[in-house]
Amino acid sequence: MKQRPAPTRVVVLGGGTAGWMSACSLAKLLGPRVTVTLVESEDIGIVGVGEATLPHIRGFVEKLGIDEAAFMQATHATYKLGIDFKDFGRIGESYVHPFGTFGEEVAGVPFHHYWLELQRQGLAEPIGHYSLAVTAALAGKFRPPTTDVSLTSTYGYAYQFDATLFGPFLREHGKTLGVGRIEGKVVEVRQDPESGDVTTLVLENGQELAGDLFIDCSGFRSLMLGQTLGEEWEDWSQWLPTDRAAALPCSHVTEEFTPVTSAIAMPAGWRWRIPLQHRMGNGYVFSSQFLSEDEACAAILGAVDGEPLAEPRVLRFRAGRRKASWRHNVIAVGLSSGFLEPLESTSIYLSQMAITYLLELFPVGRQIDPRDRDEFNRLVDMEYDRVRDFLILHFHATTRDDSDFWNHVRTMAVPDTLAGKMELWREAGRVEKYSDGLFYDASWIAVYLGQGVMPERHDPRTRLPDPAQVARAMSGLRGAIVSEVAAMPGHRDFLTANAARLARPS
Ligand SMILES: Cc1cc2nc3c(=O)[nH]c(=O)nc-3n(C[C@H](O)[C@H](O)[C@H](O)COP(=O)(O)OP(=O)(O)OC[C@H]3O[C@@H](n4cnc5c(N)ncnc54)[C@H](O)[C@@H]3O)c2cc1C
Repeated sequence: MKQRPAPTRVVVLGGGTAGWMSACSLAKLLGPRVTVTLVESEDIGIVGVGEATLPHIRGFVEKLGIDEAAFMQATHATYKLGIDFKDFGRIGESYVHPFGTFGEEVAGVPFHHYWLELQRQGLAEPIGHYSLAVTAALAGKFRPPTTDVSLTSTYGYAYQFDATLFGPFLREHGKTLGVGRIEGKVVEVRQDPESGDVTTLVLENGQELAGDLFIDCSGFRSLMLGQTLGEEWEDWSQWLPTDRAAALPCSHVTEEFTPVTSAIAMPAGWRWRIPLQHRMGNGYVFSSQFLSEDEACAAILGAVDGEPLAEPRVLRFRAGRRKASWRHNVIAVGLSSGFLEPLESTSIYLSQMAITYLLELFPVGRQIDPRDRDEFNRLVDMEYDRVRDFLILHFHATTRDDSDFWNHVRTMAVPDTLAGKMELWREAGRVEKYSDGLFYDASWIAVYLGQGVMPERHDPRTRLPDPAQVARAMSGLRGAIVSEVAAMPGHRDFLTANAARLARPS
């Protein structure tokens, strides 16, 4: 009888969000093909931020066999329908980037072209009025979308959760999946002298941990990929100059909390406001070229609405990524692979994507096929590049000239890839098409229009139908959205009504 090959010994270094997401996924989805051991150090701790997510996380939670209610309860989570941007394009203006669409295509022409035509005639309401997700978010309403093809299926949702509780929740889940956990500090990474592959992690207490495949989730330290293998860092701070955050939790001031993350532009960056069940997460993301840490701490203390629940905590980072995320037998997931500032809540998504690609390309047997490794690196790079361009757009597409920071980002040169996308939009109202990666048309449209980047032309086919008919259809859509939203429960009411399932235990 043919013997089953011995399982691949996977060692995960790091027990933050990325480490536990990786360990649980590999254990659950590869089953007997692997053994998974995770090593983490309480002395070092985790970064402890990362409260806002993208809708993709729902599929992740589901695939791991996690009950949504149990997860939301354990992490004090709320629902998120998008991000509410204030003062980015111009002080006093705001828009929501929704997890959902604006209207729908008619006769092969995307909705926003009809909106542009109506706008030309002076008849359009703001584009957000034609999105159920935007309207619900601004009204503070929430109900999960339907799965049919009606209006109530045109949006998605994500979670806002306590980042310090997500890892521990996954750790408990990992135990049920057979993930081994070792507490201790790794002080040495041993490599095979011939191949350069990592063979063993040595802990402070002398314990040795051998493996076949190593997942580096050691956070910004990037202990295996960065420090041991010396993988080069590609720096993107010329386009994304924010490099610090002053984080500050505070209490809620009202009974209601919005199903949306707020991003509010500030003189040297922006601040987040993330409503959780038990508190509000806040943080000022800023550039140290334009503001000192003390000034940022004072600014965030002055900006929050509730009672501060701690002293402001400053985190330091750099925008960019490792040139490759998989080298030898080491795969970096999470902050050890790269980081793009948190404006669009993309970091946990990037970990999730790396894990998904790794599962698809996981070595058969002990031998790593270099083509799989190259493909993994190509896919991860593509994801980072897409996110990078989208983030830069939020800073660059502005008329703000009220501070050195905004003058810098408004006038800086942007990557050619973004310049090309913006040109296509400005000339013809078109969004560059791609089939993989994050942020499709509705996202780009939300930011372009929300930040006042208007195209010179739009699709001439929008002039074929009778204009009165188009206007009637648009106002019919708006009416349907308003009545759907009126019938939705408030965000807190929805959580309370489902309290037994979802609310945090008192
Ligand atoms: C200011 C800020 C805001 C953010 N906001 C968001 C957001 O809204 N949404 C989002 O998706 N993401 C956000 N992120 C990113 C998010 O926090 C991370 O993607 C996520 O927490 C994953 O971190 P990690 O697991 O890679 O690293 P960490 O949490 O830093 O974990 C590293 C782990 O490695 C261990 N470790 C390190 N060295 C050793 C060693 N020598 N021996 C043993 N163990 C070791 C540590 O103990 C720890 O367990 C934000 C990040 C920052 C900085």
